[in-house]
Amino acid sequence: MKVLVPVKRVVDYNVKVRVKSDNTGVELANVKMSMNPFDEIAVEEAIRLKEAGIVSEIVVVSIGPKAASETIRTGLAMGGDRGILVTEDSDVEPLAVAKILKGIVEEESPEMVILGKQAIDGDNNQTGQMLAQLLGWPQGTFASKVVVADGAADVTREIDGGLETVKLQLPAVVTTDLRLNEPRYASLPNIMKAKRKPIADKTAADYGVDVSPRVTVLKVEEPASREAGIMVDSVEELVAKLKEKGAL
Ligand code: AMP
Repeated sequence: MKVLVPVKRVVDYNVKVRVKSDNTGVELANVKMSMNPFDEIAVEEAIRLKEAGIVSEIVVVSIGPKAASETIRTGLAMGGDRGILVTEDSDVEPLAVAKILKGIVEEESPEMVILGKQAIDGDNNQTGQMLAQLLGWPQGTFASKVVVADGAADVTREIDGGLETVKLQLPAVVTTDLRLNEPRYASLPNIMKAKRKPIADKTAADYGVDVSPRVTVLKVEEPASREAGIMVDSVEELVAKLKEKGAL
């Protein structure tokens, strides 16, 4: 079976994000960009299913600027088979991403789409759920374990206070949580090999999707900086200070 893995190019998780001086967004100039960490987990899961003989082809998709082809190459170096880049310079909202992915699903007929549970830039946590709705497919979100057998996927989900296991009839949408697996690093020979794997060039218009934004960002601000703490000499003094501040 074929698996589609959408991967987003985002600010690397190690970067200390800075807000632009005009408060319109975050600074992206000269900032290290990488694959969204939850999407690395999605690629890894697809590769493990391929290694287990369940999956035959992994298609890695990204919607973003030309440079998102590097993110696709990372997925191909990890073990993806081919890529699709939907070039779009503006920021594409989750609904438009989901509509484009629906178009790709109709063209490619995968039996599973594995996405990250959220992209760490916008923290939306929407795309997988919207895609499942648009396709009318079952969804298993926040997956910490995926077992595929007999045309179904058993997905263990991380929910408040425990784990829930759901059975999805394929085709289905799965979104990954942190504990699903530990993504591999691409080896140098695989990075070289990935350079020869094909990436198809597409646009949102190829799927008839209007990507104009529906949400306007009014303002982006740094979190308020924390006030310096004070040292106290005794428990009595601590209690007195807490009472003074109205915390007790
Ligand atoms: P979000 O709903 O924005 O938090 O994103 C959830 C997941 O949807 C991500 O982890 C990706 O797997 C996928 N996704 C979101 N935006 C894009 C994009 N521009 N290109 C490819 N995949 C995306």
